[in-house]
Order: sequence, then C-alpha cells, then structure tokens
Amino acid sequence: APWRATVLTLYPEMFPGHLGLSLAGDALARGAWSLEARNIRDHGIGRHRAVDDTPAGGGAGMVLRCDVLAAAIDAAALPGDPRPRLLMSPRGRPLTQGRVRALAEGPGVIVVCGRFEGVDERVIAGRGLEEVSIGDYVLSGGEPAALVVLDACVRLLPGTMGKHASGVEESFEGGTLEYPHYTRPRAWEGREIPEVLTGGNHAAIARWRAAESDRITRERRPDLAGPGRIP
Ligand code: SAM
Repeated sequence: APWRATVLTLYPEMFPGHLGLSLAGDALARGAWSLEARNIRDHGIGRHRAVDDTPAGGGAGMVLRCDVLAAAIDAAALPGDPRPRLLMSPRGRPLTQGRVRALAEGPGVIVVCGRFEGVDERVIAGRGLEEVSIGDYVLSGGEPAALVVLDACVRLLPGTMGKHASGVEESFEGGTLEYPHYTRPRAWEGREIPEVLTGGNHAAIARWRAAESDRITRERRPDLAGPGRIP
C-alpha cells in the first residue's frame, strides 16, 4: 500500500505546499504516497468552533484544547491504524536521518501541527503522541515542521527520487557530511575543479571523496565525527 500521511492542522491550505511540486509532487500524483490535510477546527467547540483557550495558571497566549485535538486525532486514525503519531514541538526529540528512514519504511505518519503556545499536555500521553523537533528555534506553527518531516520521508520512498536518494553517500547516511560537488565549467573565475575528479581514476576519486567527507565533518560537526555518532 502507498505511504500515507495525514496532517492535522488549523491551516490545511498550507498542504501539500512544495510537496505538490517536482519529484514529490509527481510521486503524489502517481499515487506513490498520499497526503490528507484535516482541519482541527472541524472538531472545534460550539458555534464558533473554538479550538483553544487561555492557559491554566495564567500567562500569555492560548493553548490548543486536548478534547478538540483528541477528537481530530480519533477521526483521522481509526482503531488499529498502525501509523506513528507525531506532534511537532520545539520540546521534541530532534529529527534525525535515522528516524526519517524508519518513518519512510513504515506505513506512513499522522502529524499534528501545534499553534499558539502549544497543546494541552494531557493529549500527548492520552493519544500517544511522539514529540518531534526540527531544530532549536521556535516557529509560529507546526506546519513548516510537518512539511520538513514529510519532505525528508517522501524523498526516500521507492520510486520517488530515482536511485540517488537511496544511495548511502549522502550527508548523514554514513554518519558524516557529504564531500564537495562540482560540474562544468572546468575553470570558473580562476577556480578549478580538483584535478582528481577529472582524471578518471575511480579508486582515487573514491579515496578523495572519503577524505574530504571526513575533513569537512571534523571541521564543521565534530559531534558527528568519530565512533558512535548519528543513528
Ligand atoms: N510555547 C512553545 C514553547 O516555547 O515551547 C512554542 C509554541 S510555537 C509558537 C507553536 C507551535 O509551533 C508548536 O506547538 C509546534 O507545533 C510548532 N513548532 C515551533 N517550533 C518548532 C520546532 N522547532 N520544531 C517543531 N515544531 C515546532
């Protein structure tokens, strides 16, 4: 069955966004994956379909109600739905390529997008939500984060990106950052393509790339270099 994404959001018009274009969009049109954006407000309370309320204990902003969000999740995920339920959250576990690969190999995802000050804490345990962060900064809503998660997953689906994305040479896949790329022209503004890349010696090219990958990783991300990095 095709990989299935359901997004719960107050702004369904933000989807599929860029994922309706290019290779991901072609794959979506072909049915290699599916995307359903559901409006949390459909489960809002009363005539005004309220989805949020003031924070218990006081303070600024509004909080997404647990009963509204739970109703939206229950309507999107029928009993037995095997898909993991992600909650986009700056407090979540930072997304890694390893988690992305595992998600892409599964049946799909349900992604909940927060807004305002966030969601009522009780719905996280109450509906088994896995909090996922896309980095140490704060967005105004979870929608761009959801698009990031889906983008990273969809490009790994069989038949989405051709063979490139399935290769193990990319940044992070081997626990290192990728080596530099070049293409024509051979000389540009006094800068040349490294000679080894134009010499046709494939073993030498592989050695050069591995060494560059190693050097760049050590320089830029010493936290990734060495044993026991990136899952
Ligand atoms: N009050 C929250 C805090 O300080 O942790 C921030 C809430 S933020 C303004 C609104 C929503 O944006 C969050 O509920 C979450 O869904 C999303 N969001 C913000 N930053 C994010 C990040 N780094 N990764 C994933 N989602 C994020």
